[in-house]
Amino acid sequence: MTSNSSALPIVGHLINGEIVTTSARSLDVFNPATAEITKRVAVADKATVESAIAAAQAAFPEWRNTPPIKRARVMFRFKQLLEEHADEICRLIGEEHGKIVHDAQGELQRGIENVEFACSAPELLKGEHSKNVGSNIDSWSEFQPLGVVAGITPFNFPAMVPLWMYPAALVCGNCFILKPSERDPSSALYIAQLLKEAGLPDGVMNVVNGDKEAVDTLLEDERIMAVSFVGSTPIAESIYTRASAAGKRCQALGGAKNHAIIMPDADMDNAVSQLVGAAFGSSGERCMALSVAVAVGDAAADAFISKMQDKMTELTIGVASDASSDFGPLITAQHKAKVVGYIDSAEHDGAQVVVDGREHKVDGFESGFFVGATLIDRVSAQMSCYQEEIFGPVLLVVRTQSMQEAMDLIDAHEYGNGTCIFTRDGEAARYFSDMIKVGMVGINVPLPVPVAYHSFGGWKRSLFGDLHAYGPDSIRFYTKRKTITQRWPSASVRENVNFSMPNLE
Ligand code: NAD
Repeated sequence: MTSNSSALPIVGHLINGEIVTTSARSLDVFNPATAEITKRVAVADKATVESAIAAAQAAFPEWRNTPPIKRARVMFRFKQLLEEHADEICRLIGEEHGKIVHDAQGELQRGIENVEFACSAPELLKGEHSKNVGSNIDSWSEFQPLGVVAGITPFNFPAMVPLWMYPAALVCGNCFILKPSERDPSSALYIAQLLKEAGLPDGVMNVVNGDKEAVDTLLEDERIMAVSFVGSTPIAESIYTRASAAGKRCQALGGAKNHAIIMPDADMDNAVSQLVGAAFGSSGERCMALSVAVAVGDAAADAFISKMQDKMTELTIGVASDASSDFGPLITAQHKAKVVGYIDSAEHDGAQVVVDGREHKVDGFESGFFVGATLIDRVSAQMSCYQEEIFGPVLLVVRTQSMQEAMDLIDAHEYGNGTCIFTRDGEAARYFSDMIKVGMVGINVPLPVPVAYHSFGGWKRSLFGDLHAYGPDSIRFYTKRKTITQRWPSASVRENVNFSMPNLE
């Protein structure tokens, strides 16, 4: 659908505390429930990104020397402002992403928890101290900020994923450049403006909207010391490779295919109630969405499918502002076509489409990018619907004959973000959590997203880099360790000349 683009509001950049809307290029922003173009987002060129980097670099010396407790106080005020403005933030998320208001509230709450974690910066940055590592010698390690660091974020959590990054980066004393998704940019920009109100000095936090040109500039500029990326695996891999080659620290979180093992002894009603939300919530557009149920034995598979089919009849699909809906539309028409294409391919490859959401229409919103909840049985590991990330409201069922076969299947998959097991058997659950090659594991918990004071990250091709996102790992990621060894010899002691490796005695 087209619209008179010159009359549309422009989503700009935040550079040195000011909103900048001028740009040579801009892109459409859609309301996915109506397919209408509602805004345009400014696309930052190289010069615009460089002006943001220059502002951040200028702000760094003073922010670096601001005591951690004062940096933390900005976060305390920021948390309050996020809570006060929650309705507006959730409205912006809903308008551009399409997720239902209760889901947007959940996303924001999870984001706020990262701000709460950042409030403990003085404790987190205390460092390590050892007295008398040798005679009259003390040693300590401190954690210094890196400088100007960047974050590049995906469309599916437009508020939360940026909040995984910059609260921790800022309290560590860094200045930040955020490049949000161009598909739903408004909430990230709005939230960043609240930081100014919370007392953050201009230039410490900047937002540049845009696409590959902005990202390329961030990757090529030697003033950027570290890059956090969250998005799809091909882009994550390329960003990690390029940033690392340029000598930057990088963590790049990628895509997923999250499996749930349904053991024959599982409480099937509980498993189905848990999985219906984990599979279809947010239209399956979550990197932790549960997209494959691996049933152990045909009896478990048949029982699971029959109960899931019943449960799916209760699902309601609607628009963001309708809190009675369970989930909303997909992000774009192209993404809807891709999701439908995977369902077509599953059918073509011999799988059985038990519940088919391809033709689902929402009354009054017939042009929206909706796909109904879809359940597909008898999927095998060779099918593209199994191998690739669909990122839609599609739950696949794979039948196996043993738990080990189910675990081998999960281990063989290229992604290793999240997984879970439904069982009443503690021994089986313990073996599963110990041995499975996946970064985040649930036991009767279908979306094992770590809380803000743990860290988040997958294994295999779901994460490139060593440190996970947020939590304790974020303090390590956004700082560099410096270790100082200090001697204040007593005036009465004469130091000996020593040519051997010092052992500090
Ligand atoms: P995406 O990879 O298309 O985009 C992510 C970011 O990269 C955006 O800011 C985008 O502008 C930028 N980008 C896109 N193409 C680029 C290119 N060629 N060069 C440079 N930058 C580019 O991802 P998306 O569609 O926005 O988000 C969905 C994906 O993100 C899914 O694969 C999902 O699993 C993943 N995701 C992963 C996690 C995680 O924690 N592992 C969390 C959320 C989303």
